[in-house]
Amino acid sequence: MPEQNIRIPVLIAGGGPVGLVVALELGVRGVECMVLNDKPDTAAHPKANAIGARTMEHLRRLAIAAPLRKMGLADDHPTDVAYFTRLTGYELARLPMPSRRDALAEAESGAGAWASPEPPHRCSQIFLEQQLKRRADDLPTIDLRFGWQLTAVKESGDSVSATAEEIATGRTVTIEADYLVGADGGNSIVRKSLGIELEGESGVVRPFMGGEMFAAYFRARPDPSWLSVNASWQYWIVNPDIRALLIHVDQTDRFLLHTTIAKGGDPAAMDTAAIMGLMASANVELELLSEVPWTAGYSLVAQSYGTDRIFLAGDSSHLFTPTGGLGMNTGVDDAANLGWKLAALCQGWGGAKLAGSFGAERRPIGLRNINFARGFANSVGTVPVTEEAERDSAAGRAERATLGERLRAHARSEFIIPGIMLGVRYAGSPIVAEDDGFGGPPPDEPNSYIPNSSPGARAPHFWFSPGSALYDRLGPEFTLLRLGGSVIDTSSIEEAAALRGVPLTILDVKPDRARDLYGVDLALIRPDQHIAWRGNRAPDNALALVDLVRGA
Ligand SMILES: Cc1cc2nc3c(=O)[nH]c(=O)nc-3n(C[C@H](O)[C@H](O)[C@H](O)COP(=O)(O)OP(=O)(O)OC[C@H]3O[C@@H](n4cnc5c(N)ncnc54)[C@H](O)[C@@H]3O)c2cc1C
Repeated sequence: MPEQNIRIPVLIAGGGPVGLVVALELGVRGVECMVLNDKPDTAAHPKANAIGARTMEHLRRLAIAAPLRKMGLADDHPTDVAYFTRLTGYELARLPMPSRRDALAEAESGAGAWASPEPPHRCSQIFLEQQLKRRADDLPTIDLRFGWQLTAVKESGDSVSATAEEIATGRTVTIEADYLVGADGGNSIVRKSLGIELEGESGVVRPFMGGEMFAAYFRARPDPSWLSVNASWQYWIVNPDIRALLIHVDQTDRFLLHTTIAKGGDPAAMDTAAIMGLMASANVELELLSEVPWTAGYSLVAQSYGTDRIFLAGDSSHLFTPTGGLGMNTGVDDAANLGWKLAALCQGWGGAKLAGSFGAERRPIGLRNINFARGFANSVGTVPVTEEAERDSAAGRAERATLGERLRAHARSEFIIPGIMLGVRYAGSPIVAEDDGFGGPPPDEPNSYIPNSSPGARAPHFWFSPGSALYDRLGPEFTLLRLGGSVIDTSSIEEAAALRGVPLTILDVKPDRARDLYGVDLALIRPDQHIAWRGNRAPDNALALVDLVRGA
């Protein structure tokens, strides 16, 4: 029998990166929530290692970006992605990418591909989860219950009732919540309780990044006897014996390795030292931290992202093959989209359509990103290679040149993806005021991002002064940017927002280049930094606009 009955506005199942970001979005707004996570602590085995620019922008808003930047590789370590026959063999291709220090300098100066105050950060999910949990611990309205498992869920009319069990003691509680977020990963009990299936492709087998995979996390002092190629962040190994990926995880000696388990192979029989020996053609002294089998070849998206009370976010609603580093990053963007909406509903200014707008906006993005990731996996996972590639012969040089050309093109397409990360646009959203007066949006290209103020797009970034970005000056909820000078009368929008209780900040922006960037005098920016509406004067019916963007 349950011992206790708890009442909470928002219950979050899952304390992985996505559940914790939803909790933080609520916590920074003073909304009460509870996080249940079956494991006693954050993940100890690294999965994601590529934290995208958009995720870092959200983390900047949540005051985590700066401490997280200190984690991972050393300041001056190159973040190159490079391809080799072996770790002591031939280099086939290299995509040079800036160290953390240079990436931040590029972002400050506006150089480089990332029109963002926060360039991508090459850092493990284990460090990210630690930072998220630390920040959540500091926020008084977040009740973190690690070591607690959600065991049952029932939606009834105007609330959700759930049962949870404390794993160490077997103690159970019932929880009544206004809203439930299923951020409980790929095997989501929340998704299953709603009878929602994942749709798409699974079971795809490729020589690499398709089928059963093996990951090992270990410490090994970098030493030319086994790592004689130039320093990189990712070392991809392509030879007839093995396909594998070695990722440098921290400033010293932590590495993560991924390789394929042969068809019918036993994951328990995988031997990390032997695999490293094959990758390096040398003996590698290592201290094993963890070994985990996992499956690649998924491109799955949930049929629906939930109901008006129960929401699916992160891996519970989409499962990626991790090429492009899109799984967690897509999940964190889900969380940022959902967090302010739940807060608005709990605080009473969110309208009835706000809940449904989450799935309407995010499911198309899940499908979009899954397709990009699948394309990358098909490209890199099927590169043909023969024994010639390792020979010092004319045929060997020719094969390496061909391989190099293909891998160089592939690397550019997989790792320089500002279009995917920054070009998310909520086209056709029920809470975005579409227009046709200022030219349409640019094409959705994975490898290039064109800043634009189309309704539903991410608000283009600009610096006010070194270190001070537009995003740092936006209000906590909606912000009306006045780019054409403060002479424009926006009082009708301000009055409408006040009437409906929608928190609105007015921000006058002087620099002319900001007006040029946006192409309009006024832009209404949502709490998640997407554009809700734009124009050159206040709309005739400001109350209708405010009602639209708050989902009434
Ligand atoms: C090898 C690999 C490499 C990857 N690389 C990248 C990358 O570079 N970039 C990227 O963006 N993504 C990457 N990903 C994907 C990324 O790791 C996931 O998308 C991410 O972990 C999803 O976060 P989540 O919070 O949705 O789910 P999870 O991280 O799975 O967290 C869910 C949490 O819920 C808990 N839980 C489950 N059931 C219950 C329950 N009933 N009650 C309470 N708690 C429960 C789980 O224990 C877990 O802590 C990679 C994945 C893999 C496998």
